[in-house]
Amino acid sequence: MPEYTVSVDDDGTIMVDDTTPRELADSFGRRFGHGRARYCTVPLPNQLAVLPPAAATAGVAEVALRVHSVYHRSLTDGPGRRSTLKLQGCSIGMERPCPGCIVPDTHDPAGGRLLTVAAIVDVLADPARAPRDGYSLLGGELLDQAEGVTTLLGLLRRREPDAHVVVYSGYTLDELLGRPDPWVRRALATVDVLIDGRFDKALAAGAGAYRGSANQRIYDRPALAAALIQGGPSPAPDRATGRTATPTTTAAPPPISGAGCSFDTSSSTGDRP
Ligand code: SF4
Repeated sequence: MPEYTVSVDDDGTIMVDDTTPRELADSFGRRFGHGRARYCTVPLPNQLAVLPPAAATAGVAEVALRVHSVYHRSLTDGPGRRSTLKLQGCSIGMERPCPGCIVPDTHDPAGGRLLTVAAIVDVLADPARAPRDGYSLLGGELLDQAEGVTTLLGLLRRREPDAHVVVYSGYTLDELLGRPDPWVRRALATVDVLIDGRFDKALAAGAGAYRGSANQRIYDRPALAAALIQGGPSPAPDRATGRTATPTTTAAPPPISGAGCSFDTSSSTGDRP
């Protein structure tokens, strides 16, 4: 039997999974008002956070990342309500894009805006956008900038030690463990959940919570730790903390369940796109 997810936000907004059949979604619309897209992997322009000015590219001692966008209150990028950082640049997209990639504008590694990790954390962890259930980092290809990602996660966890972090990579975990950049493994050692693998539009229908396509896999922290322990030499030291990485299995991730792309029925601004 097919399963559909309906979420009720604490402001009373009813959200229907984007894969819900049109008749069923229309039925909700008739009862609660017509829907509009929101909180999806591609947020509406007015949902994007305002980024600070770009960092100067010369004489900057801090680690910087090339950022595509930041948005809050995402219900599709991990469990609960997420603040999401989307990085610019994708080595997969520049060579052979995933079939049906919906974010080709993230591919160019020279695009986006270069920001220091401190400036990014300020926007991502903006207290005015709390409460949130965690942070999600995606791309582009997130781990093309693994050193900066590791540094950012170190700063974020200094501010919020219990922050729940989900990361997405177009590379499989095996491919990531085989990359020569030691910062990739260090970054993986500090996250709670990895969702890996290339997007495949042909496998998108019914992919399951938080995944773009059914071939992608979800690793929780114990699974990641086990893979890292088996996977070769020790990761590089953390630029933020100065400590050498040690995979940890102490924190259990929250359950992985919930909605896919969603639209809400709280307004009558028009039909669902
Ligand atoms: S990894 Fe993501 S951004 Fe890169 S080509 Fe694949 S779907 Fe597009």
